[in-house]
Amino acid sequence: MSTMDMTRPAGATGAARPLEGKTALITGSTSGIGLGVAESLAARGAQIVLNGLGDRRDIEMTRDRIAFENRVPAVYSDADLSLPKAVVEMIAFAEDAFGGVDILVNNAGIQHVAPVDDFPPAKWDAILAINLSSAFHAIRAALPGMKKRGWGRIVNIASAHGLVGSPFKSAYVAAKHGMVGLTKTVALETAQAGVTCNAICPGYVWTPLVEKQIGDQAAAHNLPREKVITEVFLKAQPNKRFAQTGEIGALAAFLCSDDAQSITGTALPVDGGWTAQ
Ligand code: NAD
Repeated sequence: MSTMDMTRPAGATGAARPLEGKTALITGSTSGIGLGVAESLAARGAQIVLNGLGDRRDIEMTRDRIAFENRVPAVYSDADLSLPKAVVEMIAFAEDAFGGVDILVNNAGIQHVAPVDDFPPAKWDAILAINLSSAFHAIRAALPGMKKRGWGRIVNIASAHGLVGSPFKSAYVAAKHGMVGLTKTVALETAQAGVTCNAICPGYVWTPLVEKQIGDQAAAHNLPREKVITEVFLKAQPNKRFAQTGEIGALAAFLCSDDAQSITGTALPVDGGWTAQ
């Protein structure tokens, strides 16, 4: 580290596009939180690798828009993250496109809600594969390049459910607690390599997925949407508001900045006080 670096006051990075020249791969970035994170990183100049499921024309429009609005190159990988081989190929695709993955955001995730003694084993396997094992395979494949370049940022999108449990979400809560454990271990192994690894633990965030669930619950229980929001979804969240995807994106971008170089191995709640109770 140069003397300049040691004396630079926090927040004084100066550059409007501090991530210019860095490549960010964000899994599950065709929608919701992942898309919000991709937009935040692109706005700071990172070249972007999108991934996720969905309509190919919609994805192509999203890719074009991110590239155009932020004047950054953006590519898309259709890797199905339930398959370890596809995860490894996705990292290789990003390395071929841009020469390396500097920022890896493990965000893709699915949910299934059922009592544990009635939980379909295939759903358990899928949730563990997509929400947890894909992060292991992606980190394993991307880390050698980060170590070689002496710089890397790994941001794992866990959940408040990585810190506390809730009934009927056995696979999700197990996977998200696992993500927090993986984060700590990777942070310890990379602490002297110029690489940081942190988990973000959101409470409820306003995404298309949540919006649909509210509609479904309102219809299923014949309740007004407002009641479903306050009495079901935001019951455990003291501030009684959904976070916006841009708030998660802004925190991810901060974790990727030089000012965050000493922050590693953390699990940061963005949950309106949920896990403070
Ligand atoms: P979302 O459904 O809007 O996005 C999920 C993304 O993952 C999509 O891009 C989807 O295509 C992708 N994905 C799903 N299965 C995949 C697969 N097999 N291969 C590749 N991509 C796949 O959901 P979201 O709400 O934005 O959630 C994103 C992450 O944030 C998840 O890990 C979720 O657990 C976590 N999270 C969400 C909330 C919330 O309130 N929305 C709260 C806490 C944590």
